[in-house]
Amino acid sequence: MSTTRQIEGVVADGLGKAGGFTQIPWVRSQFVTLAGIDPHPGTLNLQLEHATQQAHWRGWQQEVQSPASNMMLAPAAMLPPQVEGEAQDCAAHVYAVHVQTDSAGGPGIPAALVLPAVPDYPADKLELVAALPLRAHCQLRSGDRLRIQRCSPLRLQALLFDLDGTLVDSVAAYHVVAQRAAEPHGITVTRAQVSRALALNSNFWDEAVPADDPRREALKRGMAEQAMRDWPAVLAAEASMFQGVRQSLLQLRAQGVRLAVVSGARREVLPLLQAAGVMELFEQVLLSEDVSRRKPDPEGILRCLSLMGVAPDQAGYVGDTPIDVQASRRAGVRSVAVLGGAADSALLSTAQPDWLLASHAAIANVVRGRD
Ligand SMILES: [Mg+2]
Repeated sequence: MSTTRQIEGVVADGLGKAGGFTQIPWVRSQFVTLAGIDPHPGTLNLQLEHATQQAHWRGWQQEVQSPASNMMLAPAAMLPPQVEGEAQDCAAHVYAVHVQTDSAGGPGIPAALVLPAVPDYPADKLELVAALPLRAHCQLRSGDRLRIQRCSPLRLQALLFDLDGTLVDSVAAYHVVAQRAAEPHGITVTRAQVSRALALNSNFWDEAVPADDPRREALKRGMAEQAMRDWPAVLAAEASMFQGVRQSLLQLRAQGVRLAVVSGARREVLPLLQAAGVMELFEQVLLSEDVSRRKPDPEGILRCLSLMGVAPDQAGYVGDTPIDVQASRRAGVRSVAVLGGAADSALLSTAQPDWLLASHAAIANVVRGRD
């Protein structure tokens, strides 16, 4: 089946009923699982004024009836919690899309196009859910024209992975090591400060030490040195690979995708990869010692691809922060952003990755090797 991957509509006032729907706990968690979207309350409504646009949308909907024709294009079914003894009816189908904004040079803001499974749903109306408040973020007003683009499955020779927050569940370990270094000085470092610093490549000591503290520079230096000394032990005690990483990587390999690591982590992380039995799945493992410039500089990604003999346009990079998405774009590779690390769904949405996914477990659904 061949359908256009782009639909254009006009921003319309909604019925004002869907805001509550997106915040129902099981609905919210399914948007996260199915589309990497932790919904901002409410939906953005589009009116399809032209017959051609309505025909495009009918084409998309026909994929609901024949998902086996192309599993990588099938929309995801949103299912309410199972009640024992009752049939589990589909509540809606969810399509991963980008809302195109003509800004930031990216593919657009990730969003979920929702098709409620109700009879007689209007043929000329679309409802979009996103982690960002789309109207405010994209400065949209009723009557504005807006394009949405269906996310395309990626056919890639190679997929490169970040470690911290992507394959290694280590954000809590960073919090422990920072807190342990700060505590003797009467300073508290919050988990939110640590996450933000990791997500944006900023220095978490900058935020933790009050600006008017006369000891500021000496304290920051001392705490950073203490944290560096403590890091190997804290990493070993507090961090682990995310569950199911080995299976996800094996599935990608089975689909013909070559794998590698490009990470700012230090060598202390390697025992975690060895214990999980994933080291041998990677053709290259480049860590902080192997590059001279940190992400978002593309040096690590480009050096890794050069070692693998893969062109950037045949590759993708998976990470958990906007810095990873920026590094991908600067290297000319596709970007896959995953939740569960340092950045939340809204922050990752601002970076405009090619795919926003709940975790590594969903990557094999959207990435295949080249034929
Ligand atoms: Mg990371």
